[in-house]
Amino acid sequence: MLQNGFAVRSAMKSNPHIAVVGAGAFGGWTALHLLERGARVTLLDAWGPGNSRASSGGETRIMRGTYGPDQPYTETAARALKLWVKYERRWKKQFLHRAGVLWMVSSRDDAYERGSLEPLREAGIRFQELSTAVMKKRWPQINFSGVHWGILEPECGYLDARASCQAVVDAFVGQGGTYRQLAVSSDGLESGLLRGLTLSDSSRLKADYYVFACGPWLGKLFPETLGEVIRSTKQDIFFFGPPAGDTRFDANLPLWGDHGKRFFYGIPGSDRRGFKVADDTRGGPFDPTNGERVVSQATLKRVREYLAFRFPAMKDAPLIEARVCQYEQTSDSHFIVDRHPRMDNVWLLGGGSGHGFKHGPALGEMMAELILKDAEPHAVWRLSRFPGRNRLGVSPILAEREACPLPE
Ligand SMILES: Cc1cc2nc3c(=O)[nH]c(=O)nc-3n(C[C@H](O)[C@H](O)[C@H](O)COP(=O)(O)OP(=O)(O)OC[C@H]3O[C@@H](n4cnc5c(N)ncnc54)[C@H](O)[C@@H]3O)c2cc1C
Repeated sequence: MLQNGFAVRSAMKSNPHIAVVGAGAFGGWTALHLLERGARVTLLDAWGPGNSRASSGGETRIMRGTYGPDQPYTETAARALKLWVKYERRWKKQFLHRAGVLWMVSSRDDAYERGSLEPLREAGIRFQELSTAVMKKRWPQINFSGVHWGILEPECGYLDARASCQAVVDAFVGQGGTYRQLAVSSDGLESGLLRGLTLSDSSRLKADYYVFACGPWLGKLFPETLGEVIRSTKQDIFFFGPPAGDTRFDANLPLWGDHGKRFFYGIPGSDRRGFKVADDTRGGPFDPTNGERVVSQATLKRVREYLAFRFPAMKDAPLIEARVCQYEQTSDSHFIVDRHPRMDNVWLLGGGSGHGFKHGPALGEMMAELILKDAEPHAVWRLSRFPGRNRLGVSPILAEREACPLPE
């Protein structure tokens, strides 16, 4: 609460009503963990959990722990791994497919990968360092030229994206949470103390606390605070069809990331959709509401050239599907987990920056603790790291952006 211009914390009620806006990977898990800790929770989403416009849409996301040195994400990923398994067991559903994740080091500067090993060890995520000779023998369908060494995380793999978002909301409702498919108006959100939300059916919703987990829309809702802090970038995803009967590019290959001048990654054969390949370089600005989701021919050409080089047997593979998603990108690729600078009862959660999905269960757990215990978030996620307006910078999280500056 603001009194005489100073932030004063209101005493926490024992059973507060909390409105969570956004039922993607961040908001859905937050709502569920808040509910499990005794809060009364209303979850809202304009188009539904994991909808095709959301950053959590689509079928699959990579679960990995390799994250470079000096960062909180390997530990969060390790906690999330445990929670994914816990909820899979509880709900008798599978979301995590442990196909393994192979990280290929194609850059001469391997500080990112070298710096990943200790955090992996400390977090207890199993991994193996592999020489190029060993990788060549094990996966002859990959051309390892230019690859210096690799990291295999055998217990990681891919997560079902939209299916798990829906399962979280189903569980949330099953445990007594209220879910409504309605949009929250941005009108007046930053004009003073937040006393209620205006919804798309013209009703009002009052709560004690508000969590906004609106992915690429977060900056549109809070233009003064986040307008230039989160950018929505267009990301094209391609699915190529392997030859009939050929299992070298699904069951017999782990997920992979190739960290060279650019960062390419792929998920082989999930859901029979084909060989998923994407270039992680941040694309141009993209409007998540009205943007036409048509992939760029230039990106397709680049991905095809890469495919022909790294997976020669896929050289002439046809494109069988494609989709457009967007990253909600911060300048340093770190998340945003903080109170609104002027409203103590408003929390902002977002900035997944192309790597947030896997952390959903752990972030939701952390958010519930932060809100209910009135605690302070990790410094790396606080808004105070953006003095004034945001500047575009180089990511400490994904070193490939040093070689691939953000396109305009
Ligand atoms: C192509 C692609 C590949 C990725 N790969 C990976 C990966 O391999 N591993 C990984 O961990 N992460 C990955 N990510 C990142 C990850 O998917 C995102 O960081 C994460 O899904 C973000 O979740 P979110 O809940 O913050 O946002 P969203 O999923 O976008 O959820 C926000 C929700 O808010 C709702 N909403 C917005 N405005 C309003 C409003 N006014 N009122 C009501 N509701 C509203 C929307 O409908 C939406 O459902 C990838 C992302 C993309 C796009």
